Amino acid sequence: MKIGTIASHSALNIVSGARIEGFETILFCPPERKDFYASFGFENSLAIIDSFDEVLDMSPENIIMVPHGSFVAYIGAEKLIKSELKIFGSRKLMQWEADRNLKSKLLKNSGLKVPRELISIDDIDCPVIAKTHGAAGGKGYFIAKNRDDAYRNMQPGVEYVFQEYIVGTKVFVTYFHSLARDRLEIFGADIRYETDADANLRFDAQPSFVVVGNIPLVLRESTLARYFEIGKSFVKGFKELTGGVIPGPFCIETIIDRNMEIYSFEFSGRIVAGTNIWMPYSPYSFITHQEKMWMGRRIAREIRELLDKNLLDEALL
Ligand code: ATP
Repeated sequence: MKIGTIASHSALNIVSGARIEGFETILFCPPERKDFYASFGFENSLAIIDSFDEVLDMSPENIIMVPHGSFVAYIGAEKLIKSELKIFGSRKLMQWEADRNLKSKLLKNSGLKVPRELISIDDIDCPVIAKTHGAAGGKGYFIAKNRDDAYRNMQPGVEYVFQEYIVGTKVFVTYFHSLARDRLEIFGADIRYETDADANLRFDAQPSFVVVGNIPLVLRESTLARYFEIGKSFVKGFKELTGGVIPGPFCIETIIDRNMEIYSFEFSGRIVAGTNIWMPYSPYSFITHQEKMWMGRRIAREIRELLDKNLLDEALL
């Protein structure tokens, strides 16, 4: 059995983890990135493709694909969900993630505190962030101080969702829900640094939320304990709402305000790029595993244990 992914996002994380756990790896790579991935010693894993879409035609027989953010960005959730690929992750969760209404339903039903959503522009009674449907990386978003400001910034023909704008620190926490060991592991935390929302805007302009990278974060321990509860509630909420299980990694994206209230505004049901900073381990993964354990390796370890227990099909939903 091989572990495969597409050459982008957290591919180095995934394939280096799979390799150390003794799996053969396959990295679907566009020609222009070949030298880059070969420079890390993955030349024998490369399968050169002209378009990421080509992975949909691969024979899924002996490859377990580990999805990451670029799968959805380049291929699209819908095509992936319909594909025959053996995907380590929950297609159902992917579906809920791709739909803004389902996404907020899941966060709310899991009992998480979420930013207030304003159904129509006329309901705006606080500073808001306006989000477009299906945007990636906050493209087309704007912030508005009030209703008039929102009217001024709206683009004709674009549909927006207005959310209370939370002032605070962006905290992204990654978890690993192990089916093989029947437990939730808190894996790491980071701050996603966005240009130029996180830079010092020196004039009154709309910020851009394009992600530059991730900065490691070690949380106050009392806060970490709250995040553990948030992760547990999310797993439980998903089960109650859909009957499904979440296999492996997921991330809850939050903002902590000055009163230490935690607002969850988004989730990702897969490995996130924020885990790239925790190679070879995070403080939390080291305590849990007592060895170097990064997310790509954790995924491979789980696949191995599920294979041994004949439970892998449960994780390939
Ligand atoms: P991605 O898919 O890459 O996670 P996205 O397009 O789904 O991005 P969000 O993650 O919802 O967009 O938001 C992008 C950024 O906008 C966040 O990282 C954060 O900086 C900001 N943001 C989102 N919602 C809020 C909110 N309610 N209050 C304050 N800032 C917010």
